[in-house]
Amino acid sequence: MKITTTVEQVRRERSRFSNLGFVPTMGALHSGHLSLIDLAKSRGLPVCVSIFVNPLQFNEKSDFDKYPRDLERDISKLKGVDVVFAPEPSELLGHRLTTVSVADISTKLEGKFRPGHFDGVATIVSTLFNIIEPTDAWFGEKDFQQVVLIEQMVKDLKFKTTIHRAPIIREESGLALSSRNERLTERGKQDAASISQGLFAMRDAALNGERQVERLKNVFNERCFLKTEYIEVVDELSLEPVTVLNERSRALAAVWCEEVRLIDNVALYA
Ligand code: AMP
Repeated sequence: MKITTTVEQVRRERSRFSNLGFVPTMGALHSGHLSLIDLAKSRGLPVCVSIFVNPLQFNEKSDFDKYPRDLERDISKLKGVDVVFAPEPSELLGHRLTTVSVADISTKLEGKFRPGHFDGVATIVSTLFNIIEPTDAWFGEKDFQQVVLIEQMVKDLKFKTTIHRAPIIREESGLALSSRNERLTERGKQDAASISQGLFAMRDAALNGERQVERLKNVFNERCFLKTEYIEVVDELSLEPVTVLNERSRALAAVWCEEVRLIDNVALYA
């Protein structure tokens, strides 16, 4: 496994392969990240993982400062990865005047509460794609809006990369794995499981025939006792809210637990 930190180094490594699978991350790696790597490897592709806490996508400086960072620990968790790209912010950002912005998608849902977040994501992912030129890249449905945004960006900017969606990996309690969970106490983790329990209860109610979104949101609020920033049901393709379920509706939530902002989502169809 080659560890690279500069654009020049990673480009040199990249040139050894014809096809390359890519998994962009912000580190603090967990089984969710590793599942994306396994999916890339299961296609027989060499794999590049980037580890970069992207300052552009944090709208709160304190959140950026508190984000867990431990490169050595991350590297020790990687098995079967060919190239790691772990640049310093100055290597990718420097004096930057260019922003990539995906209109519409970036201002909905998460975008309403995190202004500038998705511009930061699109800007850095497009930069990484230009450096690494992956043939394939994996993104988790944990960040559902993010994968929709990246797919749109790839389509619009004609990147040659094929985007793959990966299912959400959860703790036994149902809590979606997240680097941010590291900031929760054991009690906080137990409480945070009520987010997925609320979402699963919505899904069960939907599969049992409930079509009214307001009633489904009540089902969530009865289960999840934490401070909810939003609970929305949207059409998966347009990300537009629905009031009556269609066959591609998804519930998405952002919830606060112990001053950590957690997101999760679930499909409301079988
Ligand atoms: P992050 O390091 O949080 O930026 O995440 C890097 C990638 O891992 C993104 O594509 C995430 O959607 C994905 N990811 C994070 N958590 C999970 C999870 N619990 N299950 C599946 N994918 C995940």
